[in-house]
Amino acid sequence: MRSPCPSCGSVETGPSFTFKWEQTETEVIATDPFFLCSGCGHSWQVEGRLVLSRHSDPDDKAAAESYAKRLTELS
Ligand SMILES: [Zn+2]
Repeated sequence: MRSPCPSCGSVETGPSFTFKWEQTETEVIATDPFFLCSGCGHSWQVEGRLVLSRHSDPDDKAAAESYAKRLTELS
């Protein structure tokens, strides 16, 4: 999911923070994540579910899980 910056329109954006995430058999999903623009530094919340990982590989899943945990710790 790419979400263009609502402030400057840049597409150089990425998820920066989430309050909530969940894990299924094959996916790690962030709920209502915040995005950060690398162009202007603006941050905003995107309502919806962002799939951080969709793999069956346990290593990838662990990586996505630690990524999701890191997102929740960046408060
Ligand atoms: Zn921006």
